[in-house]
Amino acid sequence: MKTDFGPRRGLPFVICAPSGAGKTTLVSRLTAEFPLEFSISCTTRAPRGTEKDGVDYIFLDRETFVERRAQGYFAEWAEVHGNFYGTPLQPVRDRLALGKDMLFDIDVQGAAQLSLSLPEARFVFILPPSMEELERRLRGRGTDSEEAIRIRLANARTEIMSSHWFDAVIVNDDLDMAYDQLRSFYLASTLQPSLKPQLARSICGA
Ligand code: 5GP
Repeated sequence: MKTDFGPRRGLPFVICAPSGAGKTTLVSRLTAEFPLEFSISCTTRAPRGTEKDGVDYIFLDRETFVERRAQGYFAEWAEVHGNFYGTPLQPVRDRLALGKDMLFDIDVQGAAQLSLSLPEARFVFILPPSMEELERRLRGRGTDSEEAIRIRLANARTEIMSSHWFDAVIVNDDLDMAYDQLRSFYLASTLQPSLKPQLARSICGA
């Protein structure tokens, strides 16, 4: 007979990367394999392409964002490329309490704040194998101007140099190997005792 050790709390799982490191591909593989829910952020930037309000982002005007920020609505927030981005705290708490693992695609400044409001969160940083390779990938995308590439590379350098506090760093040189490391770290993170506060008591009958 299987023993029921009770449900566990959801894991907040945060993935940061400089643009061009391959985060989107790795995240798509992880969410295809595991039932992680994506935390939907608020932003003041305009929707792009096929983006839908309430699905990709919750699109807010600046005034509403600033009002909500003052009310303590966000678990973290940051200004990225001149726009505000923030993670609504209560919906995340509700989903975690129901045992849903949540995935956060946020920038490094926001990640550092999230570690304070969600102490059980685990943080992964995806690194390019070298700055030369990152530059090659950014140019290969053909979507950015010379100026935008220069800014992205400078931002990437700053973020990479401040990545020492993350729980895991993964170099995305070989995609399959990087994915293996990401999924292993995710699975290991779901085993942390703080997600199963009743486990020890239920085993000991205490
Ligand atoms: P984009 O505008 O291209 O969708 O996102 C730009 C940057 O904002 C990305 O680095 C993304 O990780 C970051 N970002 C998206 N949502 C949030 C959020 O809620 N908080 C923070 N701090 N950064 C976010």
